[in-house]
Amino acid sequence: SWSSLQDVTGVAVKRAERMSGEHAIVVEIPDTLPLLNIDERALSEVVYTLIDNAKKYSPPRSKVTVTARMSESGIEVSVHDEGIGIAAEDATRVFQKFYRGDETRVSAPHGLGVGLSIAKAIVEAHGGVIWVDQPGGATGTTIKFHIPVREESLCLPN
Ligand code: ATP
Repeated sequence: SWSSLQDVTGVAVKRAERMSGEHAIVVEIPDTLPLLNIDERALSEVVYTLIDNAKKYSPPRSKVTVTARMSESGIEVSVHDEGIGIAAEDATRVFQKFYRGDETRVSAPHGLGVGLSIAKAIVEAHGGVIWVDQPGGATGTTIKFHIPVREESLCLPN
């Protein structure tokens, strides 16, 4: 069915805000975006996982920024936080099932290390890619994913 990036991110942000209201979740999305014939439920699940992690691994009341845009070939969504960051050597490992960072086992002891592996499986099932953008940076974490959208799955606003 047809949905917009606002729908996909909006569902995820509302759900993340219900869980606990400590972080400022900022959404930056252009006003005019096409409608897309995409799997809204699955993709908002991915966005939710990224926001949930951003909250878990950053200080209370810090900012989480959700950005979405159309690229030439599809959609690109980015979730940025101001937290502990992901080391360069962990950048691919964090997507492995059951992998958890060293620091993480101390600061958030109850995770299983599955969220990002599920997110990756969903993204790849839609022909997309997910990655840690500029890992090892000094200013938190940015995770991005891209999903290709074919032209016939686009409904441009007039
Ligand atoms: P679960 O998903 O079961 O709650 P988890 O959060 O540990 O546990 P993943 O979502 O798969 O599992 O993340 C794997 C690891 O990647 C985390 O343990 C953490 O070390 C690292 N990680 C994920 N997101 C972030 C982030 N936003 N900032 C810093 N580290 C992160």
